[in-house]
Amino acid sequence: MCLPDHKTKIVCTIGPSSRSREVLARMILSGMNVARLNLSHGSFDEHRENIKNIRAAAEDADLPVTILLDLPGPKIRVGMLAEEPMMLHKGETVTLVAAPASDDPSVIPVDFEQFPQLVSPGGTIFLSDGFLQIRVDEVAGSAVRAMVVVGGPLLSRKGMSLVGGGGILAVSALTERDLECIEFGLAEGLDTFSISFIQRAEEIRKAREYAARSGKSIKVIAKIERQEALANLDEILREADGVMIARGDLGVQTPIEEVPAVQKRIIQKANILGRPAITATQMLMSMTDNIRPTRAEVTDVANAILDGTDAVMLSEETSIGKYPVETVAMMAKIARSTEEERASVGAGCAPLDYFRRGKGREEITVNDVVSLNVIEALDALGIRYVLTPTRSGSTPRNISRFKPEAWILAFTRNPSTLKFLAFSYGVCPFLIRSEKEYWHGAILDSIRDSGLIEPGERVVLTEGVSPGREGTDSLIILTVD
Ligand code: PGA
Ligand code: MN
Repeated sequence: MCLPDHKTKIVCTIGPSSRSREVLARMILSGMNVARLNLSHGSFDEHRENIKNIRAAAEDADLPVTILLDLPGPKIRVGMLAEEPMMLHKGETVTLVAAPASDDPSVIPVDFEQFPQLVSPGGTIFLSDGFLQIRVDEVAGSAVRAMVVVGGPLLSRKGMSLVGGGGILAVSALTERDLECIEFGLAEGLDTFSISFIQRAEEIRKAREYAARSGKSIKVIAKIERQEALANLDEILREADGVMIARGDLGVQTPIEEVPAVQKRIIQKANILGRPAITATQMLMSMTDNIRPTRAEVTDVANAILDGTDAVMLSEETSIGKYPVETVAMMAKIARSTEEERASVGAGCAPLDYFRRGKGREEITVNDVVSLNVIEALDALGIRYVLTPTRSGSTPRNISRFKPEAWILAFTRNPSTLKFLAFSYGVCPFLIRSEKEYWHGAILDSIRDSGLIEPGERVVLTEGVSPGREGTDSLIILTVD
């Protein structure tokens, strides 16, 4: 068996460019770990077809893929345009009407009934992650007339932000539509969801409770994309299973120049808590049209990895771009090269610093101490593999947060745990079928069979000494014979 040549996980948004089984299989072989279905676009029937194709492609490639369902959240979006792209020209007047779709190619439908009540003359509306900008001149009944300030091509279903806090209602981030989407996902056998425009931890609990009514337990990724989420970051991170730095909306909802520092801060906090962090949006944007990325984009991906991100995400690049497979391959190439240079460029490690001094030192738990000692053993003895039996996935995640050079081979009997480890840096998960209380024999057998480990090689094995109890109490350094 063969491990990937990069440890950063790659999340790809699936769309018209990538939904065929054949393209999906090539993306998986190029390094895609997670397929993201953005429920803001497409019908349930289309997504059901996507899920079928992703599963078939994973079988073709003989590699695991995790499916992430991204819930739409309370976002105002452009409806279905009569013709797309609709070209907006600077200085011209456009008409917006509250409607899910329009037959008139000169009208922008807005898929939000109360839209005209949310805007007033002089207000600015950003479209498409802020690429386009219009200024409201007049509100006349259900029609809004606006002047184009920054023009360009507009596509259906693109998001709209009304500056000054409007545009996203001060309601819970979890809408009725989101609950329907959770229902849909559960029926399709999926359990990983991301909440858009989250404001509070409460919304995550609400999603979990909703799934629990059908007897299901779900994984929830919090998309940090508005001011309220930044204000409640700590409670959100504690409640969430993972976090996404959703830089698209974040750069509209908060000052764009603060995005880099915010990204670093979120990643550091997520790392310390052992929650996987996904850095999203415009990472290789120019590859939507071009076969080569810009130097700035390559540097952005590399810097996110050096910041400690677990995963990097592609949106338009793989959903509507011309080169979905090449973009994944480029992402994988940048990841491999950057990971090799992590130590030599002196990239720090926030969780290491945190647990070695100050507040973190005071709050340290037994599990934290064990994971720190794993890192110490790997470094001191030049060990290449950590073997972690795990129920919930917390042991491999706690080691992964320190971004070691060694691979973390995680063994679990829980398929849901296995799937969620697709988001964690440097973790390669395996499903183990042994029913024995201690799985060491089965794990060592499968490791011997894998051909990964040389005879006589030392490995680290973590062990929870109390069966049935979560957490890791000890580590063993052993030589595989
Ligand atoms: P979206 O989220 O693609 O669903 O808008 C990501 C972002 O806002 O960056
Ligand atoms: Mn967003």
